[in-house]
Amino acid sequence: MQEDYLNIDKPIIKIDIQDVIDFCYCPYYYKLKNMDMQINIQKLYDLAIHKVIYRYLRMLMDDKLNSSSIETLKYLWGQEWIKEKTNSKIIVHTSAQWRGTYDTYRQMGIKAIESFNSLINNVEQTPIIVNKEWEVHIASNVYLTGKWEYIREIDSDNGPLIQIMHFVTQTNRSATNAMFQKDLLATASLYAFNNTFNDIAVQLAYVDMYSKKFKPTLRTERDFELLKRSTISTALCLMNGIECISLDRKCYFCEYRDKCVSTIGGKNNGDFMELIRKKGETQHVGNEYKFGRQDDNQ
Ligand code: SF4
Repeated sequence: MQEDYLNIDKPIIKIDIQDVIDFCYCPYYYKLKNMDMQINIQKLYDLAIHKVIYRYLRMLMDDKLNSSSIETLKYLWGQEWIKEKTNSKIIVHTSAQWRGTYDTYRQMGIKAIESFNSLINNVEQTPIIVNKEWEVHIASNVYLTGKWEYIREIDSDNGPLIQIMHFVTQTNRSATNAMFQKDLLATASLYAFNNTFNDIAVQLAYVDMYSKKFKPTLRTERDFELLKRSTISTALCLMNGIECISLDRKCYFCEYRDKCVSTIGGKNNGDFMELIRKKGETQHVGNEYKFGRQDDNQ
């Protein structure tokens, strides 16, 4: 069992669910993300839009909304995004291209808050939790931490219903329903909720601001077991310095591909895609999955 390898004499290990997700995606990605002190415009946008959402939901919770919800959201977006324009970390990129990108994100933000407004404010709701941290025991000396973005109560045909909601604010065009189904972030939120508030029926859902859809999703005991094992595996790797790096298709989309020393891109900006092709891909032959660098043996 994995747990046998956890050293219970060691201090308590607390791992954030985002760290587990980043490490599972790629250990090197996890390292670069945690070492990277730069803030790119995508990250800045994501932070700003989440701030707007949380500020709005707190106003809703404290009954402090003085104007219409969309006007309030637009005001908050203006405050967050225009304020960030003067951020010294990003002002260095003052090119025509940068101004164009900046304005593209401003417009994306307006579309996102309009979508948020129509998806969130179409029912009477009682906000319960906004952007609050949680912590659960996983095994031995390992604890998992994370945040609930928004939990509310609404009236449904079957009586009061509690909803745990996650906001998808980035354009991830490749995200499928199957990927949402396996998303550890939502699994962890539900697991933490079940462990904190026993025996309360809840609905887990994504608020996808780009597809403008409300997406309820389900989790089973098996999903919780996989979450625990993924967390323990990540703890084991972090504690023992294990980091297996493999180039594959995910590297195409990785924001660190130009910095990653395991790629040509990280060294001299060479043809990254050609390297991936040469180093091999995941092969799927019949019902057999082969993971490896097929070209190396040819
Ligand atoms: S480019 Fe690939 S190997 Fe490098 S950090 Fe990104 S995902 Fe990991």
